[in-house]
Amino acid sequence: MSGQLERGPVRTTHADVLLASVGERGVLCDFYDEEGSNTYRDLIQDADGTPEAREFATRVGPVPGPVLELAAGTGRLTFPFLELGWEVTALELSAPVVDGFRMRLAEAPADLRDRCTVVQADMSAFSVDRRFGAAVISSGSVNELDEAGRQGLYASVREHLEPGGKFLLSLALSEVAESQPPERRQELPGQSGRLYVLHVSVQPAEETQDITIYPADETADPFVVCTHRRRLVPADRIVRELLRAGFDVIARTPFASGASGRAGHEDMLLVEAVKQEGAIPAA
Ligand code: SAM
Repeated sequence: MSGQLERGPVRTTHADVLLASVGERGVLCDFYDEEGSNTYRDLIQDADGTPEAREFATRVGPVPGPVLELAAGTGRLTFPFLELGWEVTALELSAPVVDGFRMRLAEAPADLRDRCTVVQADMSAFSVDRRFGAAVISSGSVNELDEAGRQGLYASVREHLEPGGKFLLSLALSEVAESQPPERRQELPGQSGRLYVLHVSVQPAEETQDITIYPADETADPFVVCTHRRRLVPADRIVRELLRAGFDVIARTPFASGASGRAGHEDMLLVEAVKQEGAIPAA
């Protein structure tokens, strides 16, 4: 099972316009594939996940034994977790993203490296030979899966949690199609100093969001256009799905991730679920 949106780069309407205007200089790729990974690393690799990681840590409590992190990316949260002394299994699907993670891990102090296991797998259907006191997934990552994929995720997580184990999800509070502007454009600086344009458009009927990222320099050659389509899944729906999948949702805590740039602005919800013991009640 994949649960992902269609494989290969999505030809967003905006990407179409850009590619038509740059001719042979244009390269289309997905944000998480081989071609897109340079842009991904330039924009995300050093993004600071510490405020979000701290929020998870507060809810997880004392070091709970090994923790499973799903859709770990290049470790925005994993490294702060390792700094806290956690032992982490970081699961991620994309091979280039896993490569980026491994490169970063290779440069980390041995104490951190030794407490991290990297697994390349699909979070909607995975099997890892150990059990965990807690599983965590960062904001934006559940949005990679369709409904069937999310069911697969919940079932796989349930199988991998110790009795009483916790599943913690951070969810963006704005993930409601109707509450989003239909289109927005923003300039983003990369670590390299290169400037990118982020264009986001929302398709309310499909509950999807198209992301297009490209160089601000119109003369760039190659002119790499990275796209990605993600689902907009409201937090309430995720909570209902968790209940049906055999979890008790014991807390929902709004918090400020710091990503909005507005100090103290609570833009995320941390959902804390505990595995119910016994059979899953019939829907
Ligand atoms: N957790 C990281 C962070 O907070 O920076 C990455 C979050 S990013 C929004 C979503 C990640 O999910 C990407 O790294 C992507 O490759 C990964 N991903 C997408 N579909 C996946 C799947 N089915 N299984 C595992 N990882 C997946």
